Amino acid sequence: MNKPIVNPGQWDAYIGLGGNLQDPVAQLRLARAKINALEHVRERGFSPFYRSAPFGPPGQPDYVNAVAHVRTSLSALQLLYALQQIENSQGRERHQRWGARTLDLDILLFGAESINLPELKIPHPEMTRRAFVLYPLADIAAPDLTIPGVGALSDCLAACPPQGIWKLPE
Ligand code: ATP
Ligand code: CA
Ligand code: CA
Repeated sequence: MNKPIVNPGQWDAYIGLGGNLQDPVAQLRLARAKINALEHVRERGFSPFYRSAPFGPPGQPDYVNAVAHVRTSLSALQLLYALQQIENSQGRERHQRWGARTLDLDILLFGAESINLPELKIPHPEMTRRAFVLYPLADIAAPDLTIPGVGALSDCLAACPPQGIWKLPE
């Protein structure tokens, strides 16, 4: 539990990106560039974009989602705070839970760590139920990726059909 807070060396992390306001594809591209420009963070892979049907409050536009794979020497909390600054820099406003937003950046996985802090839960608690996370993750992750405390990504995919998501043309 303490390890991610002190400088831990190099970690492979997966970040879920999403947005459904103000040209989401452009928002995600900009966020990708800003993540890659962070000190001590290097991109290792980036999934195709997916369009996904919204959940949460009704009447929202569709989302665009993607997953980034990075290698970082930041701690998980440092990475979270850096990602929150990027969200804020792109006009993220917090009104309603799961409400429409320009940009949402969630840490999905951080090495093989399990973290359960008030402000940071890893693996992301909802990721195994969300097709818009699992399918882009599977596009870029090793086929035998294991989700700590859960099991094989392939088993999660089998339990979560790709309903309500559409891969966008590259
Ligand atoms: P969900 O977490 O269900 O996808 P959301 O992304 O809309 O919902 P936010 O309003 O963006 O939720 O975030 C609420 C809080 O979640 C953040 O302030 C952050 O501290 C916390 N949080 C916990 N675990 C994580 C994580 N793995 N990645 C990002 N934020 C997290
Ligand atoms: Ca989210
Ligand atoms: Ca979030």
